[in-house]
Amino acid sequence: MEESKHPEERSTTQGSGIERLSQPENSHIGRTIAVMSGKGGVGKSSVSALLAVALAKEGYQVGLLDADITGPSIPKLFGLKHHADVTNGKIIPSVSKVGIKVVSINLLLPQEDDPVIWRGPLIGGVVKQFWTDVLWGELDYLIVDLPPGTGDAPLTVLQSLPLDGLVIVSSPQDLAVMVVKKAIKMVRMMNAPIFGLIENMSGLICPHCGQPIEIFGKSRADEVAAATGIKLLGRLPLDPDLSRLSDSGAIEEYSVELFKEIIPILTEPVSKAN
Ligand code: ADP
Repeated sequence: MEESKHPEERSTTQGSGIERLSQPENSHIGRTIAVMSGKGGVGKSSVSALLAVALAKEGYQVGLLDADITGPSIPKLFGLKHHADVTNGKIIPSVSKVGIKVVSINLLLPQEDDPVIWRGPLIGGVVKQFWTDVLWGELDYLIVDLPPGTGDAPLTVLQSLPLDGLVIVSSPQDLAVMVVKKAIKMVRMMNAPIFGLIENMSGLICPHCGQPIEIFGKSRADEVAAATGIKLLGRLPLDPDLSRLSDSGAIEEYSVELFKEIIPILTEPVSKAN
């Protein structure tokens, strides 16, 4: 186990000139994996939640950091409503049914529909606090649900949290394909490793005839993987069950093989050249 350092201690990623936060005080986070998308609405939060659930069901200690400060959706997926407690200046995460430790701005706002109308630096500060000022305890994995896109907010997270790698989410729409390539380029420019790509909303299986319907057009996942050189982790079809369980705060009940299959990839060492 690595020795915990004071949160104010910064470590600089060699050669990159980027300052990253060290282990939070009194906590130890094994591996930090961020989930990113080129744009909103492609299922980034759903994939973050399902990855966390799959890891927790395998027996790992898992945290889920909702870094989407202006559009937080993680607590709703897990049906978490009560306020996070703050003790001695440290945020105590809310715990989901399967034991995932969740931190989100929505668990700290007076009302869950209160908007967060802050400028970039303030938002960046909160994300950093969600790393340093949370009693995460011993975690094998911390999944970070990034804000969508390639703007200031995801950039701050990429630059400040010591990420072990990213999972990229896209959907087959043309626009999503174009912007996901931008996101991948941005991550590469920041020298962060990528585990691979998940194509979400990849068709729908007709409940009547069992044939796939390509609602957003043909899958573009192979094309994106080939063009960018990243691994295709898998495709997740549109499934009314996932949508229903998410809306009712019961995403943990959703079972899908894909995420179990991805777990060994997340435990592999990742190279920066990836
Ligand atoms: P993002 O985080 O990229 O904005 P979300 O994960 O919030 O996207 O998903 C957007 C909406 O689409 C949500 O209502 C979610 O329940 C739904 N959704 C996402 N993926 C699927 C899927 N594979 N099948 C059905 N609904 C989905």
